[in-house]
Amino acid sequence: MKVYKFGGASVKDAAGVKNVALVLENQGFEQCLLVVSAMGKTTNALEKVVEYYFKKQDYHHEIEWIKNNHIEIAQGLFSENHPVFGEISLFFDDIDSFLRRNKSPNYNFVYDQVVSCGEMISSKILSEYLNEIQFFNHWLDARDYIKTDSNYREGIVNWQETEQNISQLDKINSYVTQGFIGSESNNFTVTLGREGSDYTAAIFAYCLNADEMTIWKDVPGVMTGDPRKFENVKLLSFISYEEAIEMAYYGASVIHPKTLQPLKQKNIPFYVKSFLEPGKPGTKVSNSTENESVESYILKENQILLNVETRDFSFIAEDHMSLIFTLLAKYKIKVSLMQNSAISLALCLEDKFGSVNDLNEALQKSFITQMTKNVSLFTVRNAALDQLDKFYKDKKVLLEQISKKTFQMVTA
Ligand code: ADP
Ligand code: ASP
Ligand code: MG
Repeated sequence: MKVYKFGGASVKDAAGVKNVALVLENQGFEQCLLVVSAMGKTTNALEKVVEYYFKKQDYHHEIEWIKNNHIEIAQGLFSENHPVFGEISLFFDDIDSFLRRNKSPNYNFVYDQVVSCGEMISSKILSEYLNEIQFFNHWLDARDYIKTDSNYREGIVNWQETEQNISQLDKINSYVTQGFIGSESNNFTVTLGREGSDYTAAIFAYCLNADEMTIWKDVPGVMTGDPRKFENVKLLSFISYEEAIEMAYYGASVIHPKTLQPLKQKNIPFYVKSFLEPGKPGTKVSNSTENESVESYILKENQILLNVETRDFSFIAEDHMSLIFTLLAKYKIKVSLMQNSAISLALCLEDKFGSVNDLNEALQKSFITQMTKNVSLFTVRNAALDQLDKFYKDKKVLLEQISKKTFQMVTA
């Protein structure tokens, strides 16, 4: 089987959905499992619904806007009386009635029940449209297959149960399912983290022992830098799983970092291709080492630099580290770079869940801290270490680090 993932950008409007069909026509749609994300910026809009709900502000306006967007897309794909219109309305009625009845004060739980609807609706529209044009497929509810713990907003996959469920699928058929979502033991929805649809595709590919997996993007493949941020970037035609996981880890957002590990484990060939030029080869990620020493650039914006210092001029020792990392885990804050000296520890952080102020307060009970928000982390992979000067130009460098193949700087 082959597993394809189409992200939000590829299905942002009716023309996008029609283009998915063109890609499938070009590539063949036999024994194919399609994973699809929410359409366009739907996930951001649904996040707003949850935010307004908890702030006790009017969220109906936002729901109505998202609903109209989807109806407009469906109008470009189906005839007036198609049952899909009723199904779309039902999804939005469900969100509304869930929020009206909800008693849970748990933001992350409510978030997952609401935000997951973006993928439910997009997968329904795509599946119905493909069936309509004779690309026959079965629609799957990914929550019946991908089982997780109850870590809402960043579910940890229960691989044993998930593999057992997915292995039941008949590999003769083609399927359309949702990215980003699974469910916990009580069958409540759990999302896998923002941008998690690439990861979903890798979970299915792993459990199906897929022959290949492709994620279809709005770029020609993995490039030496994000073309939105860097000039003169080039396509990397071949990269190893290791290089891809490093790039994704440092912030090359073209691939979700969790995607690589399951694929590497089973050596499943993995392609990143353009949905605008499906005939082009794109990037092949495998055990190859062909492009291994090409310099590539990654810019992660909106990071936080936190400097933690002992109060009594004592060394930063193991017990301090242990406390600091326990708090980082508690507040679900990711460390993208760290550097320690005798009495201080500098951390470049990513605050996915808006909890860095709480972390800072907790740390201040034991340490002196200094926090600088809105910094950038610039990473160069395979950097030519004798030619680093060019990177310092016009930058206010707050921290820098060189390891074997990677040069990093935190800039204001
Ligand atoms: P999806 O539609 O699947 O969610 P994303 O927007 O998450 O797609 O990923 C595609 C985007 O990744 C591109 O538009 C590009 O701006 C960005 N990107 C970041 N780093 C790279 C890179 N090294 N090569 C190509 N694209 C990159
Ligand atoms: N729709 C989700 C998001 O925007 C998941 C994904 O697109 O991968 O984060
Ligand atoms: Mg995305």
